[in-house]
Amino acid sequence: MAFAATEDRPVTVDRIPKHSNETLTRKGPLAAGCQAEKPVVPVEPLVRMAEPEELEWIGEQSRRLDGRSPEEILAWAIERYFPRFTMATGLGPEGCVIISMLAKIEPRVYVFNLDTGYQFRETLELRERINEKYGMNIDLQRPDLSVAEYERQHGGPVYAHDPDRCCHDRKIAVLHRVAVHYDAWATGIRRDQSPTRADTPIVKWDKKFGLVKISPLAAWTKKDVWKRIVGEEVPYNPLHDQNYPSIGCQPCTRAVQPGEDERAGRWSGSAKTECGLHTGKD
Ligand code: SF4
Repeated sequence: MAFAATEDRPVTVDRIPKHSNETLTRKGPLAAGCQAEKPVVPVEPLVRMAEPEELEWIGEQSRRLDGRSPEEILAWAIERYFPRFTMATGLGPEGCVIISMLAKIEPRVYVFNLDTGYQFRETLELRERINEKYGMNIDLQRPDLSVAEYERQHGGPVYAHDPDRCCHDRKIAVLHRVAVHYDAWATGIRRDQSPTRADTPIVKWDKKFGLVKISPLAAWTKKDVWKRIVGEEVPYNPLHDQNYPSIGCQPCTRAVQPGEDERAGRWSGSAKTECGLHTGKD
């Protein structure tokens, strides 16, 4: 079970396949005159598409909620979508702040971490501290293959020569597997994090995953986030005190130098700037 603390967890949680690629594969049709099936071919899952009326409604809600507090935005999301409302978190400062808010508003929201197998030890320990402080159970969703199996299959670390493929296999595919059980998800994106995030709306349609995407902290600054962390003693990753403002997987994250963009330490030295969860491309 993903949740064990209470009896009334949303039933959808228990149906999430943890180590199955059932949503990512389908069997090919039988070739004419053949008795044997074609090999199973990995394909992207079919994701729901929004109707024009829904897109219009989402835009209206986004404009209406812009300027509201993150707690008000989350309360709206929960009223509208819970229990089919979820959050994926890399346990960055924004994710930790949102979890602290959810703990007060609706702690039964299904929160999970995409555990690629390459995360920092400090990130996994932070999950335990948050669970303990807020009585939550942040789930770990892992790829089908362990790191050892994945690297054996590909002749070594894929992140070293094809980080887009690695992020796809170890993050995007896993999120697709979870997303089919939900209607909406929250993210910790802020507009001032990077130029690629500057236009983030509060609510939008996420066509990649077929979900409504809600960014309650979109209008917050980095200072707002840290003020809340310090003021309410929200647990955070100790690596942030060692010049790691943005933390992903260990092989693809470095400390930043004074004056660098806060995401400059992610995939440093390559053109890659996003893992693909929050971009239209994949
Ligand atoms: Fe792989 Fe790096 Fe992406 Fe993690 S951040 S999934 S190690 S490419």
